[in-house]
Amino acid sequence: MTGHYTRDYWQKALDAATLNGRMFIDGKAADAADGTTFVRIRPMDGKPGATFARGKAVDIDRAVASARAAFQSGVWRHKEPVERKRIMLRWAELMREHREELALLETIDVGKPVMASLNVDVVLAANCIQYYGEMCDKLYDEIAPTGPNDRALVRKVPLGVIGAITPWNYPLIIDSWKLGPALAAGNSVVLKPAEQSSLTAIRIAELAHEAGLPAGVFNVVTGYGEEAGQALAKHMDVDMIAFTGSTEVGKLIMGYAAQTNLKRVALELGGKSPLIVFADADLDAAASAAAWGCFYNSGETCHASTRLVAERSIMDQLIRKIEEVTAREITLAHPFEPSAQIGALIEDAHLEKVLAMIEAGEREGSTRAFGAEKVMTETGGSYMSPGVFVAKSNADSLARQEIFGPVLTAIPFDTEEEALAIANDTSYGLAGAVFTTNMGRAHRVSEAIHAGTVWINTYDISSLATPFGGFKQSGFGRDRSVHAIDKYCDYKTIWQRYA
Ligand code: NAD
Repeated sequence: MTGHYTRDYWQKALDAATLNGRMFIDGKAADAADGTTFVRIRPMDGKPGATFARGKAVDIDRAVASARAAFQSGVWRHKEPVERKRIMLRWAELMREHREELALLETIDVGKPVMASLNVDVVLAANCIQYYGEMCDKLYDEIAPTGPNDRALVRKVPLGVIGAITPWNYPLIIDSWKLGPALAAGNSVVLKPAEQSSLTAIRIAELAHEAGLPAGVFNVVTGYGEEAGQALAKHMDVDMIAFTGSTEVGKLIMGYAAQTNLKRVALELGGKSPLIVFADADLDAAASAAAWGCFYNSGETCHASTRLVAERSIMDQLIRKIEEVTAREITLAHPFEPSAQIGALIEDAHLEKVLAMIEAGEREGSTRAFGAEKVMTETGGSYMSPGVFVAKSNADSLARQEIFGPVLTAIPFDTEEEALAIANDTSYGLAGAVFTTNMGRAHRVSEAIHAGTVWINTYDISSLATPFGGFKQSGFGRDRSVHAIDKYCDYKTIWQRYA
């Protein structure tokens, strides 16, 4: 239901909005020490959006010092667990109360449909803060088996100062996946959001403090990856970097940690996830899952089902069905239109990169089945229609590279063995799926796909209760679920001898 949420409603909200692009350090708004800023161009119409503080190493130093001081003082980690829970639950409530505002900010930065921001991104982010808030007073330590004269406590202790570096595709959701468990475990956080999408990070930091989070526990430094991001990842007083982004930058982050203080690193990186369809599958269900799995969020999804591994006898029929689902359901429109299911890509430079990958793929011999064109150019925004290509084989660049746009690459197979070989012939291992009515095969194949999540006869269903992350060059460390707490803690033994 869209109700009063018309395009005009959101346009008026945008006209009335004041966009705050200042950093949030030590519980207060802050400018870059050298006063520099940068302007974010709105992907929806190519017009200037917010102006952000351009944080650099000196600003990271300030934020880390504040985070360290808060950690050392115990103002957060030594609070009664039930009190920390109360603050995090209040924070989640405030996010819900500010749902429209947060949705608008997310869409201004990212160009995704505002109704998706409203009904998916803000809701899931608030739910995540609530989920981990509820854990604050439910985490137990252990007592190890010892002889009668000893008592060995195995304490699970927070690491200290966590640097979180996040991407632009689901800013609120991914920020909350880091913030929830890191803060519930008692750490302090310095968040460096992507330079394309910092508005909601700043706003949720303000809301966290309104809810009662003490100053210094959660800081936001805006700025570029090579400046603020690198300074955070190289900082000698940061205990861990929780990173989500490209595999290329993930490798740099590991290098920075190795060159500096051996801080821990958790990496959630790219993907090229296979969706295998056998001829006996429900082809309508498979087509719907393939289209939505790849084209949702304009394909800017790390676990998008970007490789359709289809049994040769049904591949053409399946692609026709995918084209029908796309035309019927996945409406591309201005992000304020209530009918929009997908909106703009993140920026023109990214759109051009996607188009260049397609051109190179076509030169190699991949053929276009439909779509994948630059559209709505009259709006000034960065729009592209969803499309499907057929690769000659899984060796084609369109079948190998993470494109991060609404581009699906189909690859035919003849046997189950071949389907699996194609599915696993990738440097990534984030997600995958199998569609078949043969349950024996469904379980065999889902076990054999080497990926962090595998769906059977569906795609992209998940909840906070399931861990999310990848194998191989999709990274390591898991977001979501009770297990995510572990990566923000370590074990500490306290051994006492009585006699
Ligand atoms: P990116 O790697 O370019 O940037 C991610 C973050 O890293 C940004 O905040 C950026 O400013 C920062 N950064 C860039 N260079 C840096 C450097 N040298 N040092 C420190 N920080 C630096 O990625 P992106 O373009 O923002 O996002 C898209 C990528 O993220 C895709 O590869 C996608 O698959 C991946 N992703 C993965 C997941 C997951 O959970 N596995 C989720 C979402 C996105």
